[in-house]
Amino acid sequence: MTGLVVLGSTGSVGLSTLDVVRRNAGRFRVAALTARSNHRLLLDQCREFQPQLAALADPSHLAAFEAGLRAAGLSTRAVAGAAALEQAAALDGAEFVMAAIVGAAGLLPTLAAAHAGKRVLLANKESAVMAGPLLTGAVRDHGATLIPIDSEHNAVFQCLGADGEKTIGDVQRILLTASGGPFLDRDPATLDQVTPAQACAHPNWDMGRKISVDSATMMNKGLEVIEACCLFDVPVDRIEVVIHPQSVVHSLVQFRDGSTLAQLGNPDMRTPIAHALGWPQRLDSGVEALDLLAVGRLDFGAPDLVRFPCLRLALEAARSGGAAPIVLNAANEAAVQAFLAAEVPFTAISGIIEDVLAQSSVQSSDDLEQILSVDHEARRTATETIGKFRF
Ligand code: NAD
Ligand code: MG
Repeated sequence: MTGLVVLGSTGSVGLSTLDVVRRNAGRFRVAALTARSNHRLLLDQCREFQPQLAALADPSHLAAFEAGLRAAGLSTRAVAGAAALEQAAALDGAEFVMAAIVGAAGLLPTLAAAHAGKRVLLANKESAVMAGPLLTGAVRDHGATLIPIDSEHNAVFQCLGADGEKTIGDVQRILLTASGGPFLDRDPATLDQVTPAQACAHPNWDMGRKISVDSATMMNKGLEVIEACCLFDVPVDRIEVVIHPQSVVHSLVQFRDGSTLAQLGNPDMRTPIAHALGWPQRLDSGVEALDLLAVGRLDFGAPDLVRFPCLRLALEAARSGGAAPIVLNAANEAAVQAFLAAEVPFTAISGIIEDVLAQSSVQSSDDLEQILSVDHEARRTATETIGKFRF
C-alpha cells in the first residue's frame, strides 16, 4: 500500500482526495492528515483512516483534539504548529503528499515534501506562484515528482504525455481555460454590491472560499498562468487564457505541427486527483464520464481585462517576474480576506493589489528567506492599504 499524507485534509480538495482513497480500498494507507483548526472533522477523519500522525496548524485546539483521539481509542499521534505541518509533509514511509493547504501557508510544507523526495500532488498553486524555481529545483535535486492537481495544469500534464519534458520544446502554446466565474456577464456597474456569498457561488465548481473569490475576480486564472510557467517551464507569452463557461475542456496544448490536444471531463476535482494518485495508471474517481450530447455545445471567448483587472495585474506580474508574483499573491490573500470579512467591497480587491504592487520596490527573490520577507512586507503594506478601501 502506498503511504499518503493529505495536507489540508479538511478542505475541499482534501475531502475529494479522501473520497478517491475510499474508492480505492487497499491501495493507499493514509499516513498523516493536517488541518488548520477544524479538529472535529480531523478527528472524524482519524477515526476512519487511522493515520499515524495528525497535525493542527492552530495549537489552541490540540488539547481538545488529543482528548478526542484518546476517547476514540486511537493511537494517532497529535502535533500542532507550523513546524508540525512540515513534519507531516516529510513523514518517513509515506511516498505521496497531497499539498492542499490554501494560500502561502502551504509553501513550507510543500517545500518540505519536495525536499523529502515525495510524489507531490500540487493543489496549492500559491507555492508555485511564490517560489516556482525553488520548488521545481527541490523536486529535481531530491528525486521528488510533481504532479499538478489544478484541473487546468493536470489537463496540460495529460496532454503532454509521458514524455512531457521532451515534448515541451514542440509546444507552441498552452491554452488555459477559465469559466469566467459567477460574474462573467454581470453589469460591471453593480459589482461593488456583490456579497461574499454571491462571489463564492461558482457556477461549475464547489471549492473553498478563497479560490472561489479568486475565480470571481479571475485572479485564479492569473495565478494559474504563473503556475503554468513554473510547472511547464514555458514563458508567459506562450500561455493564453480562453474563456470557456461550461468548464468541460480543462485546458489544451497546441503543438508545432498544428495538433491541439485537450483533456475534457465533468468539472469534479476527483478526476485530476485520481489521475495524480494513480499515474501512470488510472483509478476509479467516482466521476461519471462526460455526456457530450447533454453538454451540447462548447463556447470559447477572449477574457475582458477591463472587467477583470485582477487578471490584468497577474499577467503584468508574470511578465515582470522577480518579486512581483509574490507581492501580487500576498496582496491578493489580504484583500480577499478583507472582502470575505465584509470590510471592503468586491471591487476594492483589484485596487488594493494594484496599490500594493505600486508601493513595492523590485527586489530579488531567489532564496526562501527573501521570498518570505517580500511576502511579509507586502502583507504589511496591504493591511495599511486596506484601511483606505474600507466601507
Ligand atoms: P479550502 O479552504 O477548502 O481548504 C483549505 C485547507 O487548508 C483546509 O484543510 C484548512 O484547514 C487548511 N488551512 C487553511 N489555512 C491554513 C493554515 N494557515 N495553515 C495550515 N492549514 C491551513 O481550500 P481548497 O478549495 O481545498 O483549496 C486548497 C488549495 O487547492 C488552494 O491552493 C486552491 O487554490 C487549490 N485548488 C483548489 C481547487 C478546488 O476545487 N477546491 C481546485 C484547484 C486548486
Ligand atoms: Mg484551476
